[in-house]
Amino acid sequence: MRLRAKLTITLLLISLASSAMVGGIAYWMLMRDFRQAVLEDSFGKFHGDVAAYIERYGSWQQAERSEPFPRFVEWRHRPQPGQFGEPPIRRDSFFERRARPAFKFLLLDPEGRVIKPGGGFQRDDIFPEERLNEAKPVELHGQLVALAVPLGDPNLSPQDLLYLSAMRRALITGFLVAGALAVLLGLVVARRMSVDLDSLTRAIRQMAARGRLNEPVRVRSRDEIGLLADAFNRMSTDLTQAHEQLRELSIRDPLTQLYNRRHFAEQASRLFEQAQRYQHPLTLMLGDLDHFKQINDTYSHAVGDEVLRRVGRLLAEHVRKSDVVARHGGEEFVIAFAETTPEQAWQLCDNLRRAVEAHPWHEVHEGLRVTMSMGLCGDLQLDSVERLLGEADANLYRAKHLGRNRVEPLPGAVEGVA
Ligand code: GH3
Ligand code: MG
Ligand code: MG
Repeated sequence: MRLRAKLTITLLLISLASSAMVGGIAYWMLMRDFRQAVLEDSFGKFHGDVAAYIERYGSWQQAERSEPFPRFVEWRHRPQPGQFGEPPIRRDSFFERRARPAFKFLLLDPEGRVIKPGGGFQRDDIFPEERLNEAKPVELHGQLVALAVPLGDPNLSPQDLLYLSAMRRALITGFLVAGALAVLLGLVVARRMSVDLDSLTRAIRQMAARGRLNEPVRVRSRDEIGLLADAFNRMSTDLTQAHEQLRELSIRDPLTQLYNRRHFAEQASRLFEQAQRYQHPLTLMLGDLDHFKQINDTYSHAVGDEVLRRVGRLLAEHVRKSDVVARHGGEEFVIAFAETTPEQAWQLCDNLRRAVEAHPWHEVHEGLRVTMSMGLCGDLQLDSVERLLGEADANLYRAKHLGRNRVEPLPGAVEGVA
């Protein structure tokens, strides 16, 4: 899976989980506080009723013998404000509008004995001591007269239920909106975070798959990805330079700095194919220094090396950019003259031969003389550049045989190809 997808999914999960958690906690707190408010309200009313009941009849037991509690409550709540010395009952409160009390209460005397049964407890049962903390005190003139224990879940009024369902709807809507926002932000943030990473991986892929070493990455961020891209750019530049140097080393002859034989073979075949395809002339020259062994023997190997270097330079200076000149090995040199007939090449080579002969060799060593023999071939009827080179070699042999320091074949003697 791509990092961008992972980032998106992670951000989405985190945002959805947090909005679900916020929604869940808010709902739980709402339900808890609502139940508490209903309980407080309900207890307040029950407290008032019980206190008034006991006050009127002296004790719960006496009161019960005189009048059942429910009837007393019903009478008490008839709209006769001030009848029992109590403040008038507010009719406009939200909780007052319920039809039935929200909570039923179990009533205990101050010692914990059941005086009003409910919730599985019978009259005179002893309420378990460990549950006494659920009980709320009912006081009359500052004196504890009973304990009330709320029973079961609240009996919610239609208004309560309406209110709760409106709150639930608001929470769900909030959750959905937060979720949608999280999806949107997740996508945008993941995209922003992965943009630099994408260009970095694209560059690496180009480098790995297509061998394109110089693939600079545009660095936008200054974070770890930015640093990575920076390092990648430096590495890419270094690698490109190292590759260039290696390539140069692999195609150059170290002594003369001319191309080497292998690179010449590649370039010459390319020129040969083009010349054949477009019917353009191409002439190859194979040259060999005369009596080079003697130069080495007479003046030293170092002088021989210097001769090779200077001849290399002379050749390089005498050819055009489109020609390819190389050291073929030892004291042999090759040139591929592009777009050149053997006659034209003969003239160029003869100039070259004269230049070699006329070079101030005494600068290298007193009495040193250097000449070069050359063989040409521009016969494009031949089927390969190797055959062309073989033919040039045969002509070189002839030049040697005919006395050296000459270019063969002479222009008039060229056969076949113009
Ligand atoms: P010919 O005129 O028939 O070509 O005679 P030659 O002496 O030039 O030919 P031969 O093949 O007998 O000798 C070539 C010499 O070139 C032998 C070898 O030691 C020398 N040589 C080859 N490579 C180098 C090099 O890199 N440096 C030096 N100094 N000499 C080299
Ligand atoms: Mg030789
Ligand atoms: Mg030689």
